[in-house]
Amino acid sequence: MAHVVAEPCRGCKHTDCVVVCPTECFYEGDDMLFIHPNDCIDCGCCVPECPVKAIYQDNDIPAHWISYVALNADMARKSPHITEKKSPMTGSK
Ligand code: SF4
Ligand code: SF4
Repeated sequence: MAHVVAEPCRGCKHTDCVVVCPTECFYEGDDMLFIHPNDCIDCGCCVPECPVKAIYQDNDIPAHWISYVALNADMARKSPHITEKKSPMTGSK
């Protein structure tokens, strides 16, 4: 099991989630972040840090966002590592 970043993260990137992750498993896509499933230890620390409730455990993600489980695994492998907080994107919520 692992945690997964879903649709609400798109266009946000407040990255409050990144700094609390003990295993540094966040990766930065063009308009959202992804969690590498091999590195996530399911501690849940990132969940309350996300202001838009974008992070779910993979077996508890809303059904309409189930595709994000595979998307996180795929995109985390293709995207640059992010380990520090950065300024949110322009127009972020
Ligand atoms: S805090 Fe939530 S919305 Fe913001 S970057 Fe992290 S997962 Fe995405
Ligand atoms: S659940 Fe824990 S290990 Fe997994 S991404 Fe969130 S903070 Fe990192």
